[in-house]
Amino acid sequence: MKKLFATVMVMSLTAALVGCGSSSSSEAAAPAESTDAAVEEEAVVEEESKGTLIMATNAEFPPYEYHEGDAIIGIDAEIAEAIATKLGYDFMIEDMLFDSIIPAVTSGKASFGMAGMTVTEERMQSVDFSDSYATGVQVVIVAEGSAITSVDDLFADDASYGIGVQTGTTGDLYATWDLEDAGLATIDRYNKGADAVQALIAGKLDCVIIDNEPAKEFVAATEGLAILDSEYAVEEYAIAFAKDSELTEEVNGALQELIADGTVAAIIDKYISAE
Ligand code: GLN
Repeated sequence: MKKLFATVMVMSLTAALVGCGSSSSSEAAAPAESTDAAVEEEAVVEEESKGTLIMATNAEFPPYEYHEGDAIIGIDAEIAEAIATKLGYDFMIEDMLFDSIIPAVTSGKASFGMAGMTVTEERMQSVDFSDSYATGVQVVIVAEGSAITSVDDLFADDASYGIGVQTGTTGDLYATWDLEDAGLATIDRYNKGADAVQALIAGKLDCVIIDNEPAKEFVAATEGLAILDSEYAVEEYAIAFAKDSELTEEVNGALQELIADGTVAAIIDKYISAE
């Protein structure tokens, strides 16, 4: 009886020591445990995920895509992430020059391109587009008091303005075809719309042709600039896919649902305050 008692004592002492040991090292053990949990969780997510959707963009286009600290945020980034979540994909963004987006998509380096990208006949030769999710307008930014007071002024017989655009954008294409090729303008091409606007402020350009939403942001952030009331062109933004990509139908289906349930409108409203 005595012996049994002793054995029980030893056992419970051992248990107490084990308990004590684990509780005294709980601070060190906790992160190890949660790391294990995180690894398990990651493994589960990976098992459930269908892979990663890679969005090619040019994060110099507020409010559609721009840098905030280390993150790339904006309308396109949020819509694309909502699509990926809905379809069960992981999601990442690859930032690149605007005119690298279509090559990234056609070569398969990116799953799709989303960059306030206008649907054009020329682009449709190399990519397929989703339904449109937003309208864009090409506008003209001038210095306040500029001799250019309407888009028509750019087309005047004796016009010879210096025009800034972002390389490869529709602003670039229209200015090139309509004005430069007709001998009515000199075009300066920049990697970032913001750099074109800086050149305008520095007096190196007469105007900048660019999409209305980034134009509004650039003008609001700068003294002495104005956007002409007349519009250069009205366009539709859509997501670009490699031709005949299996993703087009799937992603477009998710986009249509997010348009129908008001998610896309809510994301746009969040970034573009109603006028
Ligand atoms: N909408 C324009 C285009 O598609 C500009 C897009 C952009 O600069 N991100 O060419």
